[in-house]
Amino acid sequence: MELWYAEQHTDTVEFRIKVKEQICHQESPFQKIDFFKSEEFGTFFTLDGLMMVNEKDEFVYHDMISHIPLAVNPYIKNVLVIGGGDGGTVRELTRYKTIEKIDMVEIDEMVVRACQKYLPLTSSQLTDERVNLYFEDGIKFLEGIENKYDLILVDSTDPIGPGEGLFSVSFYTNCYKALTDNGILINQHESPYYERDAREMKRAHKKIKDLFPISKVYQFHMPTYPSGHWLFGFASKALDPIEDVKFDEWRKFALKTKYYNEDLHIGCFALPTFVKEMLEDVSE
Ligand code: SAM
Repeated sequence: MELWYAEQHTDTVEFRIKVKEQICHQESPFQKIDFFKSEEFGTFFTLDGLMMVNEKDEFVYHDMISHIPLAVNPYIKNVLVIGGGDGGTVRELTRYKTIEKIDMVEIDEMVVRACQKYLPLTSSQLTDERVNLYFEDGIKFLEGIENKYDLILVDSTDPIGPGEGLFSVSFYTNCYKALTDNGILINQHESPYYERDAREMKRAHKKIKDLFPISKVYQFHMPTYPSGHWLFGFASKALDPIEDVKFDEWRKFALKTKYYNEDLHIGCFALPTFVKEMLEDVSE
């Protein structure tokens, strides 16, 4: 008997992966957690029936969420990751020996424990001594924090379920307050392609643009996310991701990266016309 994992990308579009076996099903107070093994993507896991991380393309997402801000500000010392329970974002951050402290706030401890069991390479650096794990709501965690973090990475689920508040004005306002003067916020910015994702992309962009003097969007190619065309937001009080990038400094880290490179750093901020128009639309 053949086993297939199927995910609705829209009401009329379905994405399917042939599965060798399902290795875990759990229900936490927040979401349904499933792990599968597949020929093409290796081990992958889903939350509430949506692809989160798989062994084959996770390097794309984790390179792009972490190395872009570190090349713009290589002096980052204090980082906050919100969500990111699989540990891939923290794994990339720990490659920078100059980072002194990484707080990771994940609402669902069961996600972290399952990833440590079934995705050991992705979660391998969660035990780094600079990493402090907090199992609580990232929205509450940020309340009242001022001028503390050089970088905040919002490695969240979509704006449904526990991730919904991570796309709100009050959350972005608290991010702004919690950042230092050169602080950078990177957020999961959804996708411009299918209507539902594009609506969330525009809503997030409007809120961030109204708060931060510098607010850009960059793209990357994620084969297992709806349409494969996905975005992160780059917002800062002071640093522009292209004008202020410090490649000479970044090169000194001598990191080998599989997706990120200097050409791509510049190129990923060049957006297709239809995306530019959607984003300009919300700015007017
Ligand atoms: N790369 C993935 C993607 O975009 O599909 C997301 C990675 S990570 C698994 C997302 C994590 O965000 C989940 O483990 C989820 O539990 C966590 N999360 C959702 N809402 C949260 C909240 N309010 N506070 C902290 N973590 C949250």
